[in-house]
Amino acid sequence: MLDVKGLHSFYGTIEALHGVEIEVNDREIVALIGSNGAGKTTLLNSISGHVTKTGSIHFQGKDITKLAPHKISRSSLLQVPEGHHVFPGLTVEQNLLVGTTAEKGIRLRAGDNRELLDMVYEIFPRLLERRKQLAWSLSGGEQQMLAIGRALMGKPKLLMLDEPSMGLAPLIIDELFEKIVEINKNGTPVLLVEQNAHLALSVSERAYIMERGNITLSGKSADLLHDSRVTEAYLGKQ
Ligand code: ATP
Repeated sequence: MLDVKGLHSFYGTIEALHGVEIEVNDREIVALIGSNGAGKTTLLNSISGHVTKTGSIHFQGKDITKLAPHKISRSSLLQVPEGHHVFPGLTVEQNLLVGTTAEKGIRLRAGDNRELLDMVYEIFPRLLERRKQLAWSLSGGEQQMLAIGRALMGKPKLLMLDEPSMGLAPLIIDELFEKIVEINKNGTPVLLVEQNAHLALSVSERAYIMERGNITLSGKSADLLHDSRVTEAYLGKQ
């Protein structure tokens, strides 16, 4: 599904990623774990076409290394960036409809997108309740749900989530992660960047650990949860 090989990413002359290799297979949730500045966001932004890089990135067998960001999102590789990015002055439903433009052109009428809207409202009933509310008035958790819901409107073939738990209360995080698992069970593979290693390893099949622009460890999440190199560095246990 996604195959990244020998990826070097650059901010000007500074190399931030040093030969990263990762893959995501059909139906998987794959977690990317690492401390601040390890390069997780840079990796997602490189895949979605926003950072200068060398190496190769294949998505569904197609070489997307040199494609512009809008062409990458049109191939349904969709990223939900860090922070709750919504359009504050649009209603919840208008925000969702904007998500349909990621796929093919602009189709902003609810009637044209009823099935997609219903699918998102089924996963996030809270968005249905608040569909006429302006997005700025939502809680942080609801805004994150809206940002993910908007990506779902683009019918992602792979969803990349950058720190969805950022700034949210524990109970809301649990609810949000249940939804992420539900979205995955419905057939969408997920590449999940998450600083909360325990949470990320609990919901994913496989994980990569990043340090200083390199992948330093990878494997099945269930194994990594008990690996002393992970527990000591990321799970706060000896
Ligand atoms: P965080 O969780 O703090 O976002 P991260 O693992 O996502 O951390 P990145 O944000 O990818 O890490 O940062 C990787 C490295 O690239 C860091 O050394 C960072 O300072 C550097 N970096 C990130 N963005 C830029 C930028 N726009 N210009 C220059 N350097 C950058």
